[in-house]
Amino acid sequence: MTATTIPGAVVPAATPATRVDGGLLADIRRFGAADVNACFSCGVCTATCPLVTNDGTFPRRMIRYAQLGLRDKLLSSRELWTCYACGQCSEQCPQQAEPGEFMAATRRWAVASYDRTSLARTLATRPLAGSVIAVLLAVILAAFMYTAHGPMGGSSLELFGFIPSDLIHNLGIAVMAIVLVTGGAGLAAMVLALRRSVVVPPARPGRAVLAAAWRAIAVEALGQQRYRGECETETRPWYRQRWFVHAATMWGFLGLLGATLLDYGLELLGIKATGTPVPIWYPVRLLGTVAGLALLYGSTLLILRRARAEERSLRHSTVGDWMFLVLLWLAGATGFVLELALYLPGAPAWGYAVFLVHVAVALELVLLVPFSKFAHAIYRPVALFFLALATSSAEPAGEGSR
Ligand code: SF4
Ligand code: SF4
Repeated sequence: MTATTIPGAVVPAATPATRVDGGLLADIRRFGAADVNACFSCGVCTATCPLVTNDGTFPRRMIRYAQLGLRDKLLSSRELWTCYACGQCSEQCPQQAEPGEFMAATRRWAVASYDRTSLARTLATRPLAGSVIAVLLAVILAAFMYTAHGPMGGSSLELFGFIPSDLIHNLGIAVMAIVLVTGGAGLAAMVLALRRSVVVPPARPGRAVLAAAWRAIAVEALGQQRYRGECETETRPWYRQRWFVHAATMWGFLGLLGATLLDYGLELLGIKATGTPVPIWYPVRLLGTVAGLALLYGSTLLILRRARAEERSLRHSTVGDWMFLVLLWLAGATGFVLELALYLPGAPAWGYAVFLVHVAVALELVLLVPFSKFAHAIYRPVALFFLALATSSAEPAGEGSR
């Protein structure tokens, strides 16, 4: 990859110099983009995209940046994160430039560029190394916990007698610390890139910031307003539509994470020790059960659709995509099996093995948040926040990405 600096810039910009990266397009192709050299900026994708409002250059402006080698422009683009990979633009592109896939690949590339460890790049571009890392990580976590295991017996499964809850809690804290440091560094890199062009309204900036945060996090990231609305064109029943499957997976994982944290909180408050048997309707257990079922449902459909390449946007999968889905599915499936195993008479040895896999996979999923597809859950709301802030300051369309 080569990088040169050309004073004076190729496109209009407020910056004194624009870096041109001659290898940018080739680099993005490693993340799954098609050859977009054929794109001649006809605008069909712009006319097709359901998310276009008053911006007449989305999404083709991103392709232009890549063609020109404008790495910094792509990294500081908020609009890159507004695309929900519906693939409608790719269906209509007369040049088969696959603009929807280009956007998805560029987001993977952006995640890898913000990441300082190169792990995100390895997971997305090196199938063998990525697979080995994913398996090794789970094995190391499971082996580490197994070294401290207690007895496998009793009249029913005594999971936290087998793996002490203190060990799991301490491992969880260590994993969260790693995520905060590595994810925080990536987020800082993104924010530095994005904020260059944001104008906070001079009048009541605090109110504008709060409104932008509400719109980005509550309305879009959690409520998926535009994903449900403009981007959903399917005639399938609601429970099989893209947005619902995506929401079930996301809410399922968040629910499981929330149940785990609540359980830990109850122990810290002296209300309930981790592992104390409680009935199925006990709120924390109920939350975990419902969330596990949602996660299992969503991740199973996502895996099947990707395997069948049912939709245009699913025709290209990286090892990172697969690894992420398989880990999610394993977390949901093992959690559900454990729920059933707790009702079985005796204490089946396989129940303890499933518990070990469940905890190792859950820890790995959290550990890989900054490097896997999960990183979208961090970066997308931040980009949408800056976009909402720019919109509230009445910034011209596409301003921040010029
Ligand atoms: S990606 Fe395709 S549809 Fe979009 S501007 Fe380029 S050639 Fe036209
Ligand atoms: S994939 Fe869908 S949301 Fe993304 S740019 Fe294309 S039409 Fe728009």
